[in-house]
Amino acid sequence: MLQGVDIELTPEEYQAIRVREILRAREISRAREILYDRIQQMLLQRMLEEEVREMRSGWTEEDIMKCLKTRSNDTSLGNDQENTICTICQDEYQIEDMIGTLDCQHEFHRDCIKDWLLRNNICPICRRPALDSDESSTN
Ligand SMILES: [Zn+2]
Ligand SMILES: [Zn+2]
Repeated sequence: MLQGVDIELTPEEYQAIRVREILRAREISRAREILYDRIQQMLLQRMLEEEVREMRSGWTEEDIMKCLKTRSNDTSLGNDQENTICTICQDEYQIEDMIGTLDCQHEFHRDCIKDWLLRNNICPICRRPALDSDESSTN
């Protein structure tokens, strides 16, 4: 009954079969490595994305409105050209525009810097941390 299976193999045939087995095992392990690599890359990418997201802001609109010093542009800002233009939208401040001031004392339209801070926690001009939340960084 087992005759079909229980064939006698010549050494060459046996070797050929072994070689095929080994090659297939190697292929599988390589496929597995590639898969692991891919999974690892995916995980890494996800981790990085999360880190970036955390770095990006962590600010909610509410936080921003709480921490951002704002004032109404009710007085002339003087002759200094730099201080009369919002770097984010490149528009001049109009009388009664709401101005937001960062910790570094750079000023922008309140709405412009609010949108910016939702995505980045650095000053668009000097790249210093834009706002410090009171609780997290008093050491
Ligand atoms: Zn602006
Ligand atoms: Zn600044």
